[in-house]
Amino acid sequence: MAILIDGKALAQKVRGEVAAAAAEMTEKGHKPGLAVILVGEDPASQVYVRNKVRACENCGMYSAKFTLPAETSTEEVIALVEKLNRDDAIDGILVQLPLPKGIDRKAVLRAIAPEKDSDMLHPENLGELASGADCLAPCTPSGVMRMLEEYDIPVEGKRCCVIGRSELVGRPAALLLTGKNGTVTVCHSRTADLAEETRRADILVAAIGKPKFVTADMIKPGAAVIDVGINRLPDGSLCGDVDFEAAEKVAGWITPVPGGCGPMTIAMLLDNTIKLAKKRLGL
Ligand code: NAP
Repeated sequence: MAILIDGKALAQKVRGEVAAAAAEMTEKGHKPGLAVILVGEDPASQVYVRNKVRACENCGMYSAKFTLPAETSTEEVIALVEKLNRDDAIDGILVQLPLPKGIDRKAVLRAIAPEKDSDMLHPENLGELASGADCLAPCTPSGVMRMLEEYDIPVEGKRCCVIGRSELVGRPAALLLTGKNGTVTVCHSRTADLAEETRRADILVAAIGKPKFVTADMIKPGAAVIDVGINRLPDGSLCGDVDFEAAEKVAGWITPVPGGCGPMTIAMLLDNTIKLAKKRLGL
């Protein structure tokens, strides 16, 4: 039976570190602040934003939430981002994705000042990561790396397979694993024989968005399986991209959904924001 990677408990630990750093900064005269922008009424995004704001406040950070209607124009979102770029109380800006159709996502992400880019999705920050620099990274893949580290799962010299190549998860996860000297294969919807690739992997990261897509026969016995997917089933319950019940019998380590990558993503968002604040203010 696989070792369960408890993302919830680990996120609690990270948030404890964040709270200590936030208290220290506040003592020095600056309470670190995160601005979260939500455009539209996507129910899942509303829940994510609520959780992010709550986590921020629980860690003793300042949080500012901006909710804009789905009809907001790209220019209006950018105007808000630019205002927050100039606001000294704000150390990090997060625009909740996905944005409603009609809003130019790339233009919005590009408008965030790179030094306040909590999710590290500005092309300058992604470029730093791609160049192999030791820098901050997008929150979800950062959470993946932190889980591997905390559970002493070796990456160096290991075969890693990432299913998914989004700029939010798959691509940066592959870069981070490469940075830790893993040998990385990135798979996607055009991969010719996915199971052949996944079965070779010592570390398998699933970031697809398809419920229970990764079955037990696609997993190498003893592999670490990190399930990034969050899918809502018709009965309202959540499940990952991995068929957890069958996979936990084969894997060496596995993350649950919920309680794995989700809470870690929020914890790493706060961690990134604190680190950006320290850097920006020279603390
Ligand atoms: P995305 O942008 O839709 O990317 C999905 C990726 O999966 C794409 O690269 C796609 O390939 C690939 N894919 C789709 N069908 C496939 C197939 N049949 N075989 C192999 N690859 C396939 O999604 P995302 O933003 O990366 O998110 C992925 C999942 O993670 C979603 O469930 C999302 O909700 C979840 N997520 C969770 C967190 C968290 O905090 N835990 C954060 C972000 C996202 P192509 O590139 O060829 O289309």
